[in-house]
Amino acid sequence: MSGESTVTIGLLLPDVLGTYSDAGNATILAQRLRWRGIPAEIRTITACDVPVTTCAVYLLGGGEDTAQQFAADWLRRHDQLRRALETSAVTLAVCAGLQILGRSMSDASGHHYPGLDLLDITTAPGRQRAVGEVIATCTVPGIGSLTGFENHRGVTTLGPGTAPLGRVITGTGNGTSEGTTRYRTEGVFTDRIIGTYLHGPVLARNPALADHILHKVTGQVMPALDLPDQAALRHTYLSHTYLGRNYLGHTYLQGRFSRCS
Ligand code: GLN
Repeated sequence: MSGESTVTIGLLLPDVLGTYSDAGNATILAQRLRWRGIPAEIRTITACDVPVTTCAVYLLGGGEDTAQQFAADWLRRHDQLRRALETSAVTLAVCAGLQILGRSMSDASGHHYPGLDLLDITTAPGRQRAVGEVIATCTVPGIGSLTGFENHRGVTTLGPGTAPLGRVITGTGNGTSEGTTRYRTEGVFTDRIIGTYLHGPVLARNPALADHILHKVTGQVMPALDLPDQAALRHTYLSHTYLGRNYLGHTYLQGRFSRCS
């Protein structure tokens, strides 16, 4: 794949939404492109920058409520960037990043504030924080199981025409069910935006999701990569031994299932 044009990856506000190392998603995308001989460039866009609006893909990470409100205000102030997310780029948004792309959010103190209105979702605080490992079945064909960890209070309700990214097997995810079905949903999936509650970084744990994004961005089928270490790590994250081990002094699997029943 020589002679390819450079794929630009816009890493948005890692200085604000950087709590969970979601910036690693940029490294994953860039490296998986380079391994296929496609040049990639990460453009880091901090709160002090005038954002570049021509990136092929943008990444937003997770963070605390105050940081999240700042990020929502910042994005609203940069309308050209908002338009790029709406009309030209592919975006991966994680947790707080997902929430701020929706219609509105409220925090634990009841403060209600608007989102970017790019997704038909609303977020309100749940009764307790959702903390721990998640496994979900991805709704996008060919991706299979999604693994990651979650740490959020927000519960996200999807509008009637909005598709989830996954169906939760263990964990909380959005904390809501889709329509009349009884299963819990995870994240959001539209033509341009993939939203998820999964940290990890999510693309390190789920390379098929990374390649799905790269396929959307480049229009090319991504050839398979032979990475045994990555396959072994993924096997570990999806195993019951990993889910069931003691977590912060509790038997994690037991705690998780009782909370979700
Ligand atoms: N502050 C948000 C919440 O608790 C998002 C947290 C996060 O990004 N991990 O719901």
